[in-house]
Amino acid sequence: MRASGSKAVTDLVQRLRTAGLRPTRQRVALGRLLFSSGDRHVTAESLHLEAAKAGAQLSLATVYNTLHQFTASGLLRQVVVDGAKTYFDTNTGDHHHFYAEDCATLIDIPGDAVVIDGLPKAPAGMEIERVEVVVRLKPRV
Ligand SMILES: [Zn+2]
Repeated sequence: MRASGSKAVTDLVQRLRTAGLRPTRQRVALGRLLFSSGDRHVTAESLHLEAAKAGAQLSLATVYNTLHQFTASGLLRQVVVDGAKTYFDTNTGDHHHFYAEDCATLIDIPGDAVVIDGLPKAPAGMEIERVEVVVRLKPRV
């Protein structure tokens, strides 16, 4: 393994520990795929396929559970585009999304590029945590 590769693994193990997760083999394998190439959006299915191509023998259920553990620990953010499809986002900062419906792809929009001019009051006993906007795209005809 290249020196930069083992440093990346060391950093990832540290990142998992900081997030309160034990660096199991599965978490490290999936974490390398998720966090080593910039911000990205994945589904459990797409990451499962990627892991298989990288030679990791992981069930879809393991991938799904790991994505949810990463989300609960603050390493990922869940983006629900419609009822059927959940994306996991490695960019946990404040931002919004374009969603290209024809190719089912999410594209980041910087948080300050969308201005929200007024929101309803949160129901009693609740407060607004954040507002995420999904701007749906279709091919121009
Ligand atoms: Zn995003």
